[in-house]
Amino acid sequence: MALRITFAGGAGTVTGSNFLIESDEGGRVLVDCGILQGRDFSSETMYGDFPYNPATIDALIVTHAHLDHVGRAPKLVRDGFKGKVYMTSATRDLATLILEDSVNILAEEAKRHHLPPLYEETDVRRFLKLVEPLSYHEEKVVASGVSAYLRDTGHILGSASVRLTGSSGETLALTGDIGNSPSPLLPDWEPVPDADALLMESVYADRLHPDRAMRVARLRETLKKAIAKGGTVLMPAFSMERTQLMLYEISNFMEAGEIPKIPVFLDSPLAIRITDVYRNHSLEYFKPEIQDEMKREGDIFDFPFLKKTLSREESKHIHKTHGSKIIIAGAGMSHGGRIGIHEARYLPDSKTTLIIVGYQAPGSPGRLMQEGAKHIRIRRHDVRIRGTVEILEGWSGHADRDGLMEFAAKALPRAHTIFTALGEPESERFLAQRIRGFLGGNAKVAQPGETWEITKGSVRKIV
Ligand SMILES: [Zn+2]
Repeated sequence: MALRITFAGGAGTVTGSNFLIESDEGGRVLVDCGILQGRDFSSETMYGDFPYNPATIDALIVTHAHLDHVGRAPKLVRDGFKGKVYMTSATRDLATLILEDSVNILAEEAKRHHLPPLYEETDVRRFLKLVEPLSYHEEKVVASGVSAYLRDTGHILGSASVRLTGSSGETLALTGDIGNSPSPLLPDWEPVPDADALLMESVYADRLHPDRAMRVARLRETLKKAIAKGGTVLMPAFSMERTQLMLYEISNFMEAGEIPKIPVFLDSPLAIRITDVYRNHSLEYFKPEIQDEMKREGDIFDFPFLKKTLSREESKHIHKTHGSKIIIAGAGMSHGGRIGIHEARYLPDSKTTLIIVGYQAPGSPGRLMQEGAKHIRIRRHDVRIRGTVEILEGWSGHADRDGLMEFAAKALPRAHTIFTALGEPESERFLAQRIRGFLGGNAKVAQPGETWEITKGSVRKIV
């Protein structure tokens, strides 16, 4: 007996995670159903048919709530999928917010390309109805001849790797995204020592992240310097994970008296709601020391100077708070959301500091500012940048080269094959080479559309 895996999406690309696993008994399981980001929106990969009939799929397992792993799932339902969906309860709650938010963004994109929306709110609701939460470390039969088992990957709240077991005990695991452990909030990623074959992400396989201790110190020093100028500190932040990390660190700095206690505005409805999900799931998902801290000190994402501006009205009044203040708002690459309003108002002021803490895609306003642009177009206005732009590295949620190698090393005693995927082609090749060269393992770069058969002792390419 064997399991077969087809690389339907996420081979040779960072995004668009989508893998089909079949058993000899006829079970058909998908792991992830994500959007391919950064490509032509109207392309076949977004709107085209899935390379399998969604109606024939028994189950979809979602590794975590990023759109490149779950964003195409409502379309899957729209196209006939009627199976069960498995994910951790935190992933379900985050995916609910992220998918509801994406409906509007996708509708706007579609309009610009004169296309119908990729999916609508009703599709999201139908998809969410199919979800059955699955906890970490709970074996579950998900299709004929296939059972699933989730482990924490420490990437974002609720993120999981999936181990699938066939009827002869053959095992195939898929990592989803692997966290940049140790994280301040989440437990370290769990090794996968029991997979005959492993499919691994490789986003940062060719890079090292800066030292973690340095990143907190640099954030503190940057904030100190920015506040000392007496102006506004702008932090465009991604709503999930990055925003919660920033709130946690700022709260710590203020409590320790390391930075002045000035007003902090969390000006993003999505980020406010996601922070609530983080808080609600803290007892189940945070690392023990953070749980202790919460028992001792209460909410770690709230502090006396934090103001959450949920409504547009409240947001409009932020500028009435004079003197130094911090504004955290989406979008993370300054490509939309409320941050633009604040950038247009405050960037022409030389006392302003803009702090960039995440990856900025080429062409995004954030990237232009990172590269030193003195003028940018925001909301149809030409904005002159007189403020200071600071770039802080090391806040990535992905394991780097050494983290990925450590993950591979811990899987290798059992794994006879590692497929590298979910990275740019060079990264995937680099990781496969290093696994072969440094760890003596058998590694292959997953190629789009290929199908491989996995048994306890070997893999074989079928298509
Ligand atoms: Zn992710």
